[in-house]
Amino acid sequence: MKILSTTKYIFVTGGVTSSLGKGIIASSLAKLLQARGYKVTIQKLDPYINVDPGTLNPYEHGECYVTEDGAETDLDLGHYERFLNSPTSQANNVTTGRIYQSVINKERRGDYLGKTVQIIPHITDEIKKYIKYLGSKKKFDVVISEIGGTVGDIESLPYIEAVRQLKWEMGTDALFIHLTLVPYLSASGELKTKPTQHSVKALLENGVQPDVLVLRTEHPLSPGLKEKVALFCNVNKEAVIESIDVPTIYEVPIKMKEEKLDEIVLKKLGLPLGEPPELKDWNDFLFRYKNPKREVKVALIGKYVELRDAYKSISEALIHSGAANECRVKVEWIHSERVNEENIERKLKGCGGIIIAPGFGYRGIEGKIIAARYARLNKIPFFGICLGMQIAVIEFARDVLNLCDADSTEMNSETKFPVIDLMEEQKEISDKGGTMRLGAYSCHLKKDSKSYAAYGKSKITERHRHRYEFNDSYLKLFEDAGMRAVGVNPETNLVEVIEIQDHPWFVGVQFHPEYSSTVLQPHPLFVAFIKSVLDNIK
Ligand code: GLN
Repeated sequence: MKILSTTKYIFVTGGVTSSLGKGIIASSLAKLLQARGYKVTIQKLDPYINVDPGTLNPYEHGECYVTEDGAETDLDLGHYERFLNSPTSQANNVTTGRIYQSVINKERRGDYLGKTVQIIPHITDEIKKYIKYLGSKKKFDVVISEIGGTVGDIESLPYIEAVRQLKWEMGTDALFIHLTLVPYLSASGELKTKPTQHSVKALLENGVQPDVLVLRTEHPLSPGLKEKVALFCNVNKEAVIESIDVPTIYEVPIKMKEEKLDEIVLKKLGLPLGEPPELKDWNDFLFRYKNPKREVKVALIGKYVELRDAYKSISEALIHSGAANECRVKVEWIHSERVNEENIERKLKGCGGIIIAPGFGYRGIEGKIIAARYARLNKIPFFGICLGMQIAVIEFARDVLNLCDADSTEMNSETKFPVIDLMEEQKEISDKGGTMRLGAYSCHLKKDSKSYAAYGKSKITERHRHRYEFNDSYLKLFEDAGMRAVGVNPETNLVEVIEIQDHPWFVGVQFHPEYSSTVLQPHPLFVAFIKSVLDNIK
């Protein structure tokens, strides 16, 4: 299908509480529109002042997701890619920090010609520019912009004002979807619509009339309840959509199809309905996910395990790769600070595979090293990701090469054996934001490696987010002792993948394969890791 001459814009807001799943609704709608033949992209507008979430502690904001072009972004972009199977970019995530930075830079350059710089129009114009930018590329028919936070927050006001203006300018080329919660009061056995009414009132006070309401609920909504909401909120009855809790986020597109969210949106935007979405591959995935033939337990060792969102892409990649192997992967979340020599066996009991997660700083490092050693010696399938690979290298250096205080200079700048060290170009950098080795880099795999067997090809590209690297001067020592560098960056020679030969499956990667695993294209390394876990149990 040809790209539409006029891009359509959909703005998604949320009310009543945060965490209602605006990202999943936006992704599900996009999925359905995509299945009908439209080119769709989704953008996240984040109202915080950080320029990007790269400097945020995962406890604050969950995982930091990285795009191919090296942007450190909100984890919702991961959902967008996993649902749509197409890459996002820096332009898909905008924060208040970035908006202000851009406006202040313009002010310093004198671009405003002596005018007083104000939230309206200068900040709102900048927001509008970032929203329209994705449409201006002539690559998308529909741009969905999800506004982070909840209506009524002070921080989101400039965004709401900007989209109000856009709707005024664009007329039927723009549409508002508002997500709210319909709570269930168990004492009286009733579903309550008042919070939705209040939240729509809050939007109306800002000049925004929603076109579609999506109501999150634990129980089915009666036609009477939908009618009541429609009446109080000036929305057509059929545009009041139920979004009932489902066991997996991947079922939401199916539910939204049943609720005809895509049809209602297309009609309101004046677009042809196109082919009814088939979603065959998607349904095949769901069938495999819901009807596993086996179950395996995999340990994920990290220091943010109290907040599962900190490892969102890894847990989703395990779901995709589990379904590909027709098995359910149960994750045993293990706090690296609580692992020691005495309890390691007990903690890993029943785990068929071990993943060591990405991370920063020295907290929890020794527990990770103990776990890597346990995997190596007991021949348990092992997957080290970024810091996880560095840990495998440090452990091997200490235990096999007898470099007894070998370390990464991130953890111990005085170590005698800096087997993991800062990249040369990183040494002069002092700013923390946006200065790591970020985004997609190519890597060549050796043909006789397990990684090559997984990918089925030698030239790969994967996304990075780190400052430290395998220290090349130790490479020969490692390779002679059985830990090989099987993946290397062709331009810089940096070591990207290590493997231990005499082991069922021991792979460490300096990059982040989890970022590019999608429902329809589970990541080959995750698929191979889960397969090795299954084979090993046999
Ligand atoms: N802290 C390590 C580095 O900066 C690993 C980073 C990561 O795991 N993403 O190199």
